[in-house]
Amino acid sequence: MNDEVAATAGNFIRHLIDSDIVANKNDGRVATRFPPEPNGYLHIGHAKSICLNFGIAADYQGTCNLRFDDTNPHKENIEYVESIQQDVRWLGYDWGDRLFYASDYFEQLYTAAVELVRAGKAYVCDLTAEQTREYRGTLTEPGTPSPYRDRSIEENFDLLARMRAGEFEDGARVLRARIDMASPNMNMRDPTLYRIRHGVIHHQTGEAWCIYPMYDFTHPISDALEGITHSICTLEFADHRPLYDWMLENTSVSCHPQQIEFSRLNLEYTVMSKRKLTELVEEGRVEGWDDPRMPTIAGLRRRGYTPESIRDFCTRIGVSKSENTVQMGVLENCIREDLNVKAPRRMGVIHPLKIVIGNYPQDQVEQLEVANHPQDESLGTRKIPFAAELYIDRNDFREEASKKFKRLVSGGEVRLRNAYVIRCDEVIKDAQGEIIELHCSYDPVTLGANPEGRKVKGVIHWVSVMHGIGAEVRLYDRLFSNPTPDAAKEDGDYKDYLNPDSLRTVTHCIVEPSLAEAQPGERFQFEREGYFCLDQDQQGSSKLVFNRTVTLRDSWAKIEQQQKV
Ligand code: ATP
Ligand code: MG
Repeated sequence: MNDEVAATAGNFIRHLIDSDIVANKNDGRVATRFPPEPNGYLHIGHAKSICLNFGIAADYQGTCNLRFDDTNPHKENIEYVESIQQDVRWLGYDWGDRLFYASDYFEQLYTAAVELVRAGKAYVCDLTAEQTREYRGTLTEPGTPSPYRDRSIEENFDLLARMRAGEFEDGARVLRARIDMASPNMNMRDPTLYRIRHGVIHHQTGEAWCIYPMYDFTHPISDALEGITHSICTLEFADHRPLYDWMLENTSVSCHPQQIEFSRLNLEYTVMSKRKLTELVEEGRVEGWDDPRMPTIAGLRRRGYTPESIRDFCTRIGVSKSENTVQMGVLENCIREDLNVKAPRRMGVIHPLKIVIGNYPQDQVEQLEVANHPQDESLGTRKIPFAAELYIDRNDFREEASKKFKRLVSGGEVRLRNAYVIRCDEVIKDAQGEIIELHCSYDPVTLGANPEGRKVKGVIHWVSVMHGIGAEVRLYDRLFSNPTPDAAKEDGDYKDYLNPDSLRTVTHCIVEPSLAEAQPGERFQFEREGYFCLDQDQQGSSKLVFNRTVTLRDSWAKIEQQQKV
């Protein structure tokens, strides 16, 4: 992992930890946690939080716990629990033996609730959800105390025990903190601590509980039980901080973690809320959580992103308190730069057009030895067969073209990458006038040498007809065609901005024979086309499927430039 970069990237949270260490707060200990709710797959925004929490733990010789915030069983399941662990590990982080579940603490949380009841700081409230909202007041008006607010401690104690025992229906009662109905901070107006939920089987605790603690109650106590020192969360929780502190001050916990907020990652051309991502999956707008167009870690992995590129991205975007939206180009550049260095080069023809080289011996095959990387010799070489019949890409030929078209034209010359210079002598068409074949000739002295007396500028890629292997290529593009799909039109929603061209599948591509040995997930640069990886989901299919990770250059930059004009 690129620890040098991570360690030097200072931010306000690290500065704060530095001063805590100087002051010997927490005896100089640093303990963080990453607390996902297992109600969906992790996305690139979570990666920011993962890199931050695990990165701080690594750099300060501290610890980082993985804790599932699993208090909402009807939306959670074990598939999410497992995918989250897989994704954190894949990103390069290790929680060692510190895997926890908020549900591990259900008994302790209940004890804390009883403690609040006994101290007169919590009460059982029978208002309906709607009444509770009405009583809560508004930002400009104080709330009205619930008529149940002054129940006796004994009655509250009895009712809470009976809530736990399953005597009441869902929604009949809740346990609330007794704080301040007139507080200017709405979160402090007697927030709910427990609600009743029958008939759900919790993925960890099964049917042991029919009351479930709320996030604002669970989170601070879980943090304290784990001895967390710095509880890092996103900005929307800033208004909850007084409540976080209240919980810790009013229950007997042995430490008081500090909540610190930073601004969440927003990324152009995508949505990040789990509700919306779930919707895309459930409505079949994408092929699943790991669809390569999804901003999920699983999707990015299947698309061909490396963990290094995602960590690099998280370092580049930094950590602050100001709301901002990061350009998609920043993420794409991270993978481009990483793969430029790492990915072996290959040739693959996406739209094959056959050419026949008339003056090349028709039964000869030359095995050309070719470098796998133009700058990095350590990536070795491979053999590419050259023969009289080749495929080139349809887009690399025009019957007539301006001088700007540096590829093959009728009567013109072009260099075949890693091989000879050829000339197009004749264009063969079918009855409909469609080009079906080119007849060419080659210049035998141009293998690794410039032709004599003339300049040939263009270079195109090719694959031998006899040796090439068929492949499907999935050309992925951005899932949304609008940079801010969340800022929907008045009568529409983000789905109106789904990019209809986010996936183009090309089924009859021809790739060079060495790719027969490619392993699922392996990444390559297809010369002149982009970066591709062999799809990981190849079970039972003999067909090669390559996912385009990213194009060689940012084609959207131009489009955005035009839109600004
Ligand atoms: P959503 O709002 O999409 O449902 P969430 O914040 O509820 O997401 P959690 O599973 O609770 O999702 O998130 C786990 C951790 O990841 C939290 O600490 C949260 O603050 C952080 N996180 C979630 N989204 C982002 C983001 N876009 N940028 C940075 N951190 C994020
Ligand atoms: Mg959450």
